[in-house]
Amino acid sequence: MKKIRTRIPPSPTGMFHVGSLLSALFDYLYAKKNGGDFLLRIEDTDRERLVEGSTENIVESLHWAHIPPDEGVTFDTHQHLTQVGEKGPYIQSERLDIYKKYVHQLLEQKDAYYCFCTKERLDDLRKMQEMNKQPTGYDGHCKTLSTENVQKKLDANSPHVVRLNMPDEGTTTWTDLVRDNVSFENKLIDDQVLMKTDGFPTYHLAVVVDDHLMEISHVFRGEEWLSSTPKHIVLYDMFGWEKPVYGHLPLLVNEKRQKLSKRHGDVSVFDFKNKGYLPEAMVNFVAFLGWNPGTEQEIFTLEELVQAFSFEKVNKSAAVFNYEKLDWYNKEWMKKLSIEELATRAKPFFAAAGSDEEMINDLSFFEGVVRLGRERANTLADIVTNTTFLFADSLSYETELLKWKKSDLPDAKEKLAQLSEFLSTFAKEAWTEEGIEQAVMGWIKERTYGVGDVLWPTRVALSGQQYSPGPFEIMTVLGKEKSLQRIGEGLAKIS
Ligand code: GLU
Repeated sequence: MKKIRTRIPPSPTGMFHVGSLLSALFDYLYAKKNGGDFLLRIEDTDRERLVEGSTENIVESLHWAHIPPDEGVTFDTHQHLTQVGEKGPYIQSERLDIYKKYVHQLLEQKDAYYCFCTKERLDDLRKMQEMNKQPTGYDGHCKTLSTENVQKKLDANSPHVVRLNMPDEGTTTWTDLVRDNVSFENKLIDDQVLMKTDGFPTYHLAVVVDDHLMEISHVFRGEEWLSSTPKHIVLYDMFGWEKPVYGHLPLLVNEKRQKLSKRHGDVSVFDFKNKGYLPEAMVNFVAFLGWNPGTEQEIFTLEELVQAFSFEKVNKSAAVFNYEKLDWYNKEWMKKLSIEELATRAKPFFAAAGSDEEMINDLSFFEGVVRLGRERANTLADIVTNTTFLFADSLSYETELLKWKKSDLPDAKEKLAQLSEFLSTFAKEAWTEEGIEQAVMGWIKERTYGVGDVLWPTRVALSGQQYSPGPFEIMTVLGKEKSLQRIGEGLAKIS
């Protein structure tokens, strides 16, 4: 059997989009499930749309998501771009001679022709077609030029392109892994430009040549490419090459059913990475945008996705990118990771926020911080926001906040003073969440104090906030000395 080979061929025109991550993920899952290869090729033939740094971002995004390519463009051990594999180069601008050779073959076979039409003529043609409510497209003007005429123009260096000589009759059909039987009438398909004036191929020619030479067995890509596929199939037939299997994946849309785009919020993989979404959550969420396992299970590791994935369960309809659901996945994954691991992931976010380095490196303190912060966090960045008060040298808050409901400040002061004295008698070993809680609750009961009368001012003195985790949790993270210091500062505020 032929080896399964899939590819992701993004154009380096900006940050790697979550829609491309969906294609890449399905490429990866399918390849891994079938013991195949997953390739990354860079399609940089549209020179006007190139954005510097995009290729690095594509590779970084795939590595971040733990789905690095087996072949093609990737990073070496120093995180520098490199190309691996025997079917390279894997960057289209480095393959121009190859495309030229195949364009000549098509010209010779009369499956392609030179076109010398000027931009003005093409603009006028389009306007006319639009005015007459006709489908827009090339009218075949240069298709009938005589060989001599063509040669004369070429000799005179007239600017030209090469166009596909699309058959006017018949239909082009294929069996799509997602959309079953798809068919297009050939007469509705344009004589697509294959080679541009600048000598660069267009996407259509380059993608076919490369997928063939790189022995790609399966082409998975977004639904927006559906109407390009008949052009590609016709080209495969003209070259006499075996066609890959196609699968057109659902489009990603926002809640208003608009195509997911930069104008409407975060759409690049790095937008989410930088906000503190975990790659495990992102991949799990993105997989479920286009697919479902047909069971109740929602949390999947990458390995589990590889096992469970099949094209029968890929959706046809557009997938709504629901940011709340992504938050849910991230929360679940933050719970699933060990505190040690989560602390490692969260560390750069604390560092970027300027948290005290020594405190971040104090492992027992920092893991406590992360454990506390994770409870109400959707992202790693939320963990930082939720726990800033644990790093502060001193807290600033309104004194009034120390007052519990119907109680008053003198009472809060009294309770804080007594509790502080009690806490100061604790041995180091007793300073655990359970230990403090049991002792303090017993102490409150013995004195028949109201729980809120004691715990509210204590919690506020410890956190400086109206809402925060409970006082015992905070005391555990802060440790005895710092907790007593904060309670003391609360007391001092009331005086
Ligand atoms: N270069 C195209 C893109 O930017 C590739 C489409 C395909 O997968 O064929 O998405």
